[in-house]
Amino acid sequence: MASPTQTLEFQAETRQLLQLVIHSIYSNKDIFLRELISNASDALDKLRLESLTDTTLEASDPHIILEVDKGARTLTVRDNGIGMTRDDVVDLIGTIAKSGTAGLLAKIKEAKDADAAQHLIGQFGVGFYSAFMVADKVTLHTRRAGTEQGAVWESDGEGTYTIAPADGLPVGTSVTLHLKAEDSEDGLGDYLAQWKIRQIVKQYSDFIRWPIRMATEPIGTTTDDGADADGEAAGELETLNSMKALWARPRSEVTEAEYSEFYQQISHDWQAPAETIHMRAEGTFEYEALLFIPTHAPFDLFSRDTKRGVQLYVKRVFIMDDCDALMPNYLRFVKGVVDAHDLSLNVSREILQHDRQITAVRRRLVKKVLGALKDIQTKNGETYAKVWEQFGRVLKEGLIEDRDNTDALLELVSAASTNDAEKPTTLREYVERMKDGQDTIYYLTGENRAMVENSPHMEAFTAKGYEVLILTDPVDEVWTDQIPAFDGHRFQSIAKGQVDLDNDADGEGSDEAKAEKAQREEDFAALLAWLQTTLAEHVKQVRLSTRLTTSAACLVGDAHDLTPTLEKMYRAMGQELPQVKRILELNPTHPLITALHQAHQAGTDNPALAETAELVHGSALLAEGGDLPDPARFTRLLTDRLTHAL
Ligand code: ADP
Ligand code: MG
Repeated sequence: MASPTQTLEFQAETRQLLQLVIHSIYSNKDIFLRELISNASDALDKLRLESLTDTTLEASDPHIILEVDKGARTLTVRDNGIGMTRDDVVDLIGTIAKSGTAGLLAKIKEAKDADAAQHLIGQFGVGFYSAFMVADKVTLHTRRAGTEQGAVWESDGEGTYTIAPADGLPVGTSVTLHLKAEDSEDGLGDYLAQWKIRQIVKQYSDFIRWPIRMATEPIGTTTDDGADADGEAAGELETLNSMKALWARPRSEVTEAEYSEFYQQISHDWQAPAETIHMRAEGTFEYEALLFIPTHAPFDLFSRDTKRGVQLYVKRVFIMDDCDALMPNYLRFVKGVVDAHDLSLNVSREILQHDRQITAVRRRLVKKVLGALKDIQTKNGETYAKVWEQFGRVLKEGLIEDRDNTDALLELVSAASTNDAEKPTTLREYVERMKDGQDTIYYLTGENRAMVENSPHMEAFTAKGYEVLILTDPVDEVWTDQIPAFDGHRFQSIAKGQVDLDNDADGEGSDEAKAEKAQREEDFAALLAWLQTTLAEHVKQVRLSTRLTTSAACLVGDAHDLTPTLEKMYRAMGQELPQVKRILELNPTHPLITALHQAHQAGTDNPALAETAELVHGSALLAEGGDLPDPARFTRLLTDRLTHAL
């Protein structure tokens, strides 16, 4: 005969932890169901595993059943898994047999708020106890597979629990929750409502590999008349979860159509993905990842709070969307799922951010994604062009954010160039086309292609046949400022520093040319000095240019100066900056400049001289799309001049 009911005390630490779980830790009480289903699923896994070696054990039709009894206000989660012996129950449910629990508790007590406590608790599994968030009494019936005697455990989650032997139980475990009243203010849902249960299962447990069944509401039953009080009158069993965890299946067994369908389901995209990455990592930290590179961007890709597309699962239980610890911001367009086997279901974002293994996973995933993009680029140029058009701007953020992958990212860059009016180029292709003796990669940033192409800075480069990259995304201003070189070739803005194309390539930098240049410098020295004083408010230097062929003047910066666009961007972001003065370069062969030169030699008391200087500066500013310091004054000077010319 079985021994009578025993009343036992929870281990002291367990009791404290229980109180914390019930009262302060979870803001989202719905997760109790995910915890109980996860335990049931583990139990089914264990039974299947044991039945492989122990042929006396049977594992037929493994399943999880959810039963609602509205009259009794109970929700039962039942599985036909491995079950527990009486001693198992005392060990596993009555205590938290994990080392460091006492220390953990001490820390939790010191924690300032629920967030901090959640952070700590996330390192431990306290799954079963979460039942007490929604129930004021929990009854557990269980029988271990391969044994005869079952056990009943019951507790109100306060100080004690009872345990008694029970006969005639089926193999497996059922956990019955005597539900607290619905209380939306306290986050307590109506867990007797089928729609609510369905919703929670869909959200958290859809990919559990065993069927989760629930009796459909019997036809003709109204909600609270008590007619179906014994729960037996229930209708058909429906399966609530899809069980389709594609990532857990071997790649060879999944069809393209299934991948696409899954992608569409998690991304709400109606098109097929450009690339699918499916991988499995074994060893100390096991995980599976199924990631997708979409072909087009969501509308909110650049809004401040777009979410990252990667969801975290732990053993097929949904943990969180937008898992920022797994994917850097610049890969926020990547969609998919990572299923890590060895994390607690309670794991929090903060823990993930600081977890060394997660960091390693992230590093590996980033490499995979960049590799996949490279693959598309090599194998399918057309698709790559689409992907780049959609996500290029975001990927270029990686050049600023992710210095570990600079080289891989530079290989992916696709940019407009003066080489071809239509077709963009990769940096590698650019380098292959470089002229003999050219060792820098020339580029110019600006607002749009036309403005960049027609900029005076381009003139000498066009005349001498040097290819220039045309970079028109705001992010280009930033990364070109930070990345020094590609494959050993320096990036050089053609609007910055001195340009000496003559020395660069085809040996035109002869002694004769040098002497000529020196002579010119001497001739113009007085004019340049005078201009510098006259325009001191606007420019930091005035010098002769080697980059102009048709324009009279242009503005350039020193190598480390902010570009005008970048300056504008920083100001728009509210940053305080000192005025960035630029360098005015003059074309000594232009008729306007030679005329100015002559007029200056004739004497500096001519009032038209200073006005012309202002007009030259203003025109250079306009040519690159800049804003005039005093547009009204500029227009008046120009109108006067035109009037005189007619
Ligand atoms: P965890 O799942 O992280 O181990 P829980 O508090 O959720 O922590 O569960 C504690 C233990 O109780 C489980 O590890 C398992 O051994 C046992 N257990 C819980 N639910 C079941 C069940 N349905 N069937 C068999 N064993 C269970
Ligand atoms: Mg658990």
